[in-house]
Amino acid sequence: MKTGVRRLALATGVIFVILIVHLTYIQAIAGERLYLNPLNPRLNLVEQQTQRGAIYDRAGRVLARTVGNPGQFQRQYPYGPATALVVGYVSGRFGSSGLEASRDGDLLGLTGWQHLLNQGRRLMGQVARGNDLTLTLDAELQRLATSLLAGRRGAAVALDPRTGAVLALASSPTFDPNRLEEEWQRINSPGAGSPLLNRAIQGLYPPGSIMKLVTATAALEVDPGILQRDFYCPGYLEVQGWKLTCPRPHGHLNFQQAMMYSCNVTFATLALEAGADKFKETAALYGFDKPLKFDLPVEESRVPGRLNASALAEGAIGQGAVLATPLQMAMVTAAIANKGILMQPYLVEKVTAAGGRLLWQAVPRPLQVVTGAKVATDIKEAMVATVNGGTATAASLPGIQVAAKTGSAQNPGGEAHAWLVAFAPADEPRIAVAVVVENAGAGGVVAAPLAREILAAALRR
Ligand SMILES: [Zn+2]
Repeated sequence: MKTGVRRLALATGVIFVILIVHLTYIQAIAGERLYLNPLNPRLNLVEQQTQRGAIYDRAGRVLARTVGNPGQFQRQYPYGPATALVVGYVSGRFGSSGLEASRDGDLLGLTGWQHLLNQGRRLMGQVARGNDLTLTLDAELQRLATSLLAGRRGAAVALDPRTGAVLALASSPTFDPNRLEEEWQRINSPGAGSPLLNRAIQGLYPPGSIMKLVTATAALEVDPGILQRDFYCPGYLEVQGWKLTCPRPHGHLNFQQAMMYSCNVTFATLALEAGADKFKETAALYGFDKPLKFDLPVEESRVPGRLNASALAEGAIGQGAVLATPLQMAMVTAAIANKGILMQPYLVEKVTAAGGRLLWQAVPRPLQVVTGAKVATDIKEAMVATVNGGTATAASLPGIQVAAKTGSAQNPGGEAHAWLVAFAPADEPRIAVAVVVENAGAGGVVAAPLAREILAAALRR
């Protein structure tokens, strides 16, 4: 009998401890997250009593602002569709998306000690003020990228390779966040092409020949001697009974020419020599197969776990099961531009209180040393040759040396996706871009002129 009581007391004690730990967790750790959950009805109330912070681009241009009086606040987006998939929207009826969702805590002033300050204001019947966000985004460049993609499905990403700052993150089709009520039905109709999807960070595409930049990195790491080697392309390569082809027999070529004419046979051969582990390892250094910390949710780019010889040969030329987001391929390009050092991409430059006081400032930081400066420079030179006399001549700019790589990614959905990645000026890169246009054919024809316009506009600033 006594042991029974003791057991009961012990069990109750244990349950009590679990309860305390759990409550502490809810209160102290999960509190902010639970509070900011869009399903929390109290948040809706806070929303009505708070003047949401504004969102600015890197030059102080307004991307989102709140007008009107408490209880009847209205959110305006001066850049409309151009910034809709980055800034997002907030609506009592349709919820929230983009930075309006991911930075809710800042915009409503619900983080840190400001939470208490604003609670005090509300209790005294005053209007609480959220914090403002200043982005790294260049709204004019973003508008240009969006207009270049208009009428097509695709995405364009522009990064500053020296810092990782995101200058443009465009996706098409898009929508007008100022007209959600009117547009909601159209936006969600099957023929609309998923305008709520940010293809730049959530679209997974076969990267096609852009992947050869990753293959080249792995191959040069294993054997720098390949720069002097003579390769031979008869137009096809048989791997385990699977036949990989080039558009034509390229004959004898060196490494640089293989990049210039995008020879599948040479790059598949290089990947087979470097081995599956080295290929996967290199892709992982560039950011594949791991989650990326970013200001918006990013889909993970992937290289399949086990690669047999034919899957490796396919992966080396960006076909098969290799999938990447446009942001991922912009990161690959930026790392080569930045001499092998991949910077952490970021979109929010600073958070300021309503009065202008700085609360938080982003600090550029390296995410990964992908490769040495020598390998990065060798690849850059091959990309320069590709612009000056290879498949990417349409990306060239007068008076500025561009480095680029084209891709035409076969896919089951029809015509190939057109890719182009580029950076400029080649010797002191200030911008790296990745452009993909869905089912548009050759990258050098369709994507290159778009990337060129974005580079030119960015370098004029
Ligand atoms: Zn070839």
